[in-house]
Amino acid sequence: MIVDMHNHTPLCNHAEGTIEEYIQAAIESKTQFFGFSDHAPMDFDPQYRMKFEEMAQYEKDVLLAQKKYKNDIEILLGYEVDYLPGHMDERVLNADVDYLIGSVHFLEGWGFDNPEFIGKWEEQNIDEIWQKYFDTIEDMAKSRLFDIVGHLDLIKVFKFMPNSDIVKMATPALKAIKEAGMVLELNVAGYRKKVGEPYPSKELLQKAYALNIPITFSSDAHKPEQIAMYNAEIVTLARSVGYSEAFYFKERKAHAISF
Ligand SMILES: [Zn+2]
Ligand SMILES: [Zn+2]
Repeated sequence: MIVDMHNHTPLCNHAEGTIEEYIQAAIESKTQFFGFSDHAPMDFDPQYRMKFEEMAQYEKDVLLAQKKYKNDIEILLGYEVDYLPGHMDERVLNADVDYLIGSVHFLEGWGFDNPEFIGKWEEQNIDEIWQKYFDTIEDMAKSRLFDIVGHLDLIKVFKFMPNSDIVKMATPALKAIKEAGMVLELNVAGYRKKVGEPYPSKELLQKAYALNIPITFSSDAHKPEQIAMYNAEIVTLARSVGYSEAFYFKERKAHAISF
């Protein structure tokens, strides 16, 4: 991937490999702009993220690597932040970073993408879950707190698909994303999950393109070997829809690069 903005580190307690190993893998795959966006600390679900006390070390380690590898690759510093009203923390929202990814992993406190809580899918109407998810994405965009939309249709992770038209359900969220000036990530992690396709789907990406929403690329790597996996597939998808430039962020400003 020419740009790869969403990658983790072991600080989140569910990723492996050192920062150096991630960067080596990115250099080998000819990535030009590589961002770390580990799960930001939060007072909810703390076991799957770094602690507030670890932010300084994380930022320092990434910035040291940025210097060390500056002739080979541009390293960027970010966080993946949960959009969860009542639990977002100023220390994260105001962090001195290149960008923040806004992600929805919880609906009313339910970690819908966590296999531990998959049983809850049986207890509710699937269409209503999907609509609630996209309504939350819309709220996230309207909050104007974030630069990049994380895995737009993560709700499909276990392949519990709705009967309603997905593009129609997601359109208000996409319009809010456009109005907020956010960048949409093409995230390949979905290929590694039951759903077996990237986030977002081609039909949602077509709608995003029609709305003139800019994109970026993401491995969402939780292991160094996941860096740039499915690169060919995701670039082909982006081109097939009409995209020819991707964005990276430096000091909260978006910059385009052709691919
Ligand atoms: Zn993760
Ligand atoms: Zn995520």
